[in-house]
Amino acid sequence: MKVTFLGTGTSQGIPVIGSEHPVCLSENPKDKRLRVSVLVEWDGCNILIDCGPDFRAQMLANNVKHLDAILFTHEHNDHTAGLDDIRPFFFRQGDIPVFAHQRVLESLRKRFDYIFTSENKYPGAPGVIENQIENKEFSFREHKILPVDFKHNRLQVFGFRMKDFAYLTDLKSIEEEEVEKLEGLEVLVVNALRIEPHHSHFNLEEALEFIEEVKPKRAYLTHISHLLGFHDEVEARLPENVFLAYDNLKITL
Ligand SMILES: [Zn+2]
Repeated sequence: MKVTFLGTGTSQGIPVIGSEHPVCLSENPKDKRLRVSVLVEWDGCNILIDCGPDFRAQMLANNVKHLDAILFTHEHNDHTAGLDDIRPFFFRQGDIPVFAHQRVLESLRKRFDYIFTSENKYPGAPGVIENQIENKEFSFREHKILPVDFKHNRLQVFGFRMKDFAYLTDLKSIEEEEVEKLEGLEVLVVNALRIEPHHSHFNLEEALEFIEEVKPKRAYLTHISHLLGFHDEVEARLPENVFLAYDNLKITL
């Protein structure tokens, strides 16, 4: 399994438009962060988690040739706004399977009605195959995927475990029985927004406490704001098995 971090930034990305914050002005490529998404290549199957506003640039940057499925964590724009840009994949492959909570599918149907409609469909519009998921294991082709359920302030969000890899973003609170699904991980990815607390995201301290509890072999932090600080300075202070993810980082498991 190979995982590519397509984007590791919070909702506005880094740099923030018009910002003079030193992190936004940094010339280190690791301080430039598109909106969060990962591509999981699993035995030749390309599974995308979230399809945000930077999707097109991310596919081009990583020369992605086919897309087998999209899993959505939740409906917020930084995780969904790129859905129209699946068109090149749709033209080559046909309808693209999407997996999401019923509430998220409803939101997507409203915002991308021309994609989800079957009547009088514009010939250039992309198509999807809807797969409603609940908080229980599901399969895509021969792959078993386990949702992990948690809260982003009061909004329900799904993370996903695939074998010994788990990806949890926009997490603020989680029940103990959901944490138990994360036993024995090789790699945990979890969000760490900034140093100061936030109402709907883990800050750095909360993310590190969570990693302590889950005890993966290694952990990567994502959904990062410019307010977390410079990549190299923050990473130098992290525990030995914890890393800051950065855009286009590839890891194998
Ligand atoms: Zn988000």
